Amino acid sequence: MKAARERTGRWTQVERWDGLPPAELERRLATLDNDTAVLYTTTYRDRDGQRYFPSQLIAPMAQASHAPIYGWYSTYVERGATGGAVYDFAENGRATGMAAVEILRRGGNVDGLTFPELKARCTVSATQLERFGLSADRLPSGCELTDLPPSIYREYRGTVLTALAVLVAQLLTIIALLAQRRQRRLAQAEALARRGELARAARFATVGELSASIAHEVGQPLSAILSNADAADLIIKSKRLDIDELREILADVRRDALRANDVIRRLRALLQKQSLETSVVRLDETLQQSLSLIEPEARRRGIRVESRFAGGDGEVIGDSVQLQQVLLNLAINAMDAMEEVALARRVLSISTQPVASGIELAIEDRGCGFSSDSGQRLFEPFYTTKPHGMGLGLTIVRSIVEAHRGRVTATLREGGGTRFAVWLPVVQGRAASAHAGVGAAQSVAASVQSTADAASQRTVS
Ligand code: ADP
Repeated sequence: MKAARERTGRWTQVERWDGLPPAELERRLATLDNDTAVLYTTTYRDRDGQRYFPSQLIAPMAQASHAPIYGWYSTYVERGATGGAVYDFAENGRATGMAAVEILRRGGNVDGLTFPELKARCTVSATQLERFGLSADRLPSGCELTDLPPSIYREYRGTVLTALAVLVAQLLTIIALLAQRRQRRLAQAEALARRGELARAARFATVGELSASIAHEVGQPLSAILSNADAADLIIKSKRLDIDELREILADVRRDALRANDVIRRLRALLQKQSLETSVVRLDETLQQSLSLIEPEARRRGIRVESRFAGGDGEVIGDSVQLQQVLLNLAINAMDAMEEVALARRVLSISTQPVASGIELAIEDRGCGFSSDSGQRLFEPFYTTKPHGMGLGLTIVRSIVEAHRGRVTATLREGGGTRFAVWLPVVQGRAASAHAGVGAAQSVAASVQSTADAASQRTVS
């Protein structure tokens, strides 16, 4: 046993203690301080003849000592020594066993047999380091620290690493999903904007098709106004000034001006709007407004229009201009389909009626109909059988109807011609919620939002 005292980087005093009985040894160890290092070799017998096994004394010595104890067996460190360059008994036993096996295999001949060299490994007890205020940073590299204080990471390393890996994977998945969702939203918004632009462009095309009748519709009241102005002029110039007649003329002028103005107003509404504007729409009322554009065109083509709006007060949530566009597109197609038929058969029928939880708008013609082949393709983009057709009218109709959570179908009409049926869901329970004091506006706003969502989803799909 050696106890050495260090002063200013040098060992100033080395003492050797041999054969001390445990009680005296412990008492002496208790007088040391942590500037001292104790090197414990082995003790098999003390001076009183008492026998020991060397590692047996370590625990009480370590407990009593005020200086760190170093040694060279792993069992010392396990029982309370601070550390040392130690030999591992398990490793030692394994190597010895292997050597014995090899000797037996050779029948006891040890010539040329080499034994593996056992290396001492630096091993230090973290608890003892802390007890003596020694820093682990000053240990040589590769030194093993034992009995570290328990830590969740060390105790459950595998589980902690797996949990971390799962967390990281989850985080990455969430980030990827968020990025995807953002991209999808952008794409949806983009698609919605494109659809709005396309629908508007199609409305321009429709108005182009109606231009002859529109010119007539505006031109006629303007000519009437001119004639009435001439007539009033003549009355004023004549000796006989008839105020009542003048008043009648002015009333006619006002009526004609309003008529021309009404056509222009409808056109402007149809062409000006671009973005989807959802609100609660009285379907019959909205569709009836389109008649002022359809009827003049039908007259020009020698077609009789039969309209019957029986949808009652049914309201749908949607965009009134786009709903009018549906009727206009279908009506113009119906008129086109009757171009070749005899004048007497040219009847365009427009009707609405309440059906299960919705309203059905039906547009029927007595025209050429369609073959079962083309029936499959009617709603496909760019499918057209017309020399100057674009093949987008029905595609736009379907996209608008579906954005309003509705359905559109085409069937052959009994007796010849085609029947297009548009089903749209009506707003449910508005009166009830208003009575209950629940803001009707709230439920409408929610429905409007979901319609807009549906519109964007469908546009993308
Ligand atoms: P376009 O009118 O430019 O051809 P649409 O998408 O409106 O484009 O129509 C596509 C095709 O569907 C038309 O070319 C026509 O062949 C057919 N179609 C549409 N409506 C009718 C109808 N009422 N009767 C018969 N065929 C129709």
